[in-house]
Amino acid sequence: MGSSDPGQTNVVRLGPPEPQKGRKNVTRPRILVVGAGFAGVECVRRLERKLGADEADVTLVTPFAYQLYLPLLPQVASGVLTPQSIAVSLRRSKKYRTRIIPGGAIGVDLKAKVCVIRTITDEIVDEPFDYIVLAPGSVTRTFDIPGLTDNAFGMKTLAEAAYIRDHVIAQLDLADASHDEAERAARLQFVVVGGGYAGTETAACLQKLTHAAVKRYPRIDPALIKWHLIDIAPKLMPELGDKLGRTAQNILTKRGIDISLGTSIAKAGPEEVTFTDGRVIPTRTLIWTAGVVASPLISTLGAETLRGRLVVGADMKMPGQDGVFALGDSAAVPDEAKGEEGAICPPTAQHAMRQGKHVADNVIATLRGGATTPYTHKDLGLVVDLGGTDAVSKPLGIELRGLPAQFAARGYHWAALRTNVAKVRVATNWTLNALAGDDFVRTGFQARRAAKLKDFEYTNAYLTPEQVRAHVDGTERQE
Ligand SMILES: Cc1cc2nc3c(=O)[nH]c(=O)nc-3n(C[C@H](O)[C@H](O)[C@H](O)COP(=O)(O)OP(=O)(O)OC[C@H]3O[C@@H](n4cnc5c(N)ncnc54)[C@H](O)[C@@H]3O)c2cc1C
Repeated sequence: MGSSDPGQTNVVRLGPPEPQKGRKNVTRPRILVVGAGFAGVECVRRLERKLGADEADVTLVTPFAYQLYLPLLPQVASGVLTPQSIAVSLRRSKKYRTRIIPGGAIGVDLKAKVCVIRTITDEIVDEPFDYIVLAPGSVTRTFDIPGLTDNAFGMKTLAEAAYIRDHVIAQLDLADASHDEAERAARLQFVVVGGGYAGTETAACLQKLTHAAVKRYPRIDPALIKWHLIDIAPKLMPELGDKLGRTAQNILTKRGIDISLGTSIAKAGPEEVTFTDGRVIPTRTLIWTAGVVASPLISTLGAETLRGRLVVGADMKMPGQDGVFALGDSAAVPDEAKGEEGAICPPTAQHAMRQGKHVADNVIATLRGGATTPYTHKDLGLVVDLGGTDAVSKPLGIELRGLPAQFAARGYHWAALRTNVAKVRVATNWTLNALAGDDFVRTGFQARRAAKLKDFEYTNAYLTPEQVRAHVDGTERQE
């Protein structure tokens, strides 16, 4: 996805697809799934399994050719896993018959039932649909903090994780080579903002990386390496409860990570970060993981949202719209299992995967003239990998720490990986890393390209609802 003006590029309107080999030439209902994450891929696979070949055409829009297993991103950043091992292929089997459009949806016109897509070659494609399943996930939530989007890294894409790993190793290389004491000290300080599981795991895993790597740099004093983990909330990972949250905090503090709670960032510059408590930290590394917000695609609909997530019923259907479904991080799906008025499902992979399967059943039910059913799932708990044998987990309410917690964390993620090949890759990487460690190789890919928050998540690629309407109207008039 590039600039936000679809008028600058070729517009292609895709009509009903050509009948596929061996199929009858009839117009089938068109189901369009947007996003190949936890929710989108589970939905597509279930549709492929349950729908007859002539019952509907299924199309998937996705900028990437893989489903990303996001919970293991910090392990890619720290080099425990290779990037490929958590990028699960969308074309693993010949049975996968879904047509895949490589690109990103930049607007949806619910009235005309058209999705506007910018392909990976910057072509604008108008894709008509009868049913749409919106699963574009979320983007990093930022605030109006001076310098933030220009100077912070995120931890939301595979490219970001791989880039951060290179960047952190580069800081050790540059500190090692520098004669300037101040520069050395600045390069060896690292700041992570966000005390949820993403930020805590990122700080913990990367601290392990620098702690192990510094042994290969005899000129660097290990005491100069300083990791800061900060959060505006009074507790780390409140979902863990007081006791386990304190355990996580103690593990990190013992490892030398400086934790500041009730604190955020006042200003971010290229060479220093100012905390809200007035401290100024000279650093070249600011990682921002302070929550997520629904994909900007949702606001192109001009529909009702709740904290940015599209309002849907418990069956994940958008009220008042025929054939429009949304789920995962981008939708406010009521949390029926919680039994509290107004509760919505948290943005987790645990929910997104299960919603993906359930929404497929509801799409099929609608298509066949049946009734939809509400989604309900009781949270299974949380697993937090702090690197090495350090972990805290709370599966089904049972509090675990140390090796049993690590066993639960890795076992859970391993079982949740969608393909056997991905399972083998991840298990092999874990074993290799445990036996042979890391060589801390800096690949240098994209080393000279800007790669901060604003460069990775394409948040400026979307149309406004008015632009979507004008674009679709214009294309319809030309036909
Ligand atoms: C570092 C980290 C650690 C995490 N750890 C855990 C954990 O331990 N447990 C847990 O349950 N959850 C965890 N999560 C949260 C979890 O990953 C998300 O809740 C989950 O990925 C949401 O699934 P989704 O399908 O809604 O979105 P995603 O999985 O993010 O998928 C969205 C997909 O849509 C694509 N897309 C985006 N925009 C467009 C567009 N305009 N057009 C087409 N496609 C688009 C994206 O490329 C992506 O493939 C973690 C998240 C992070 C970042």
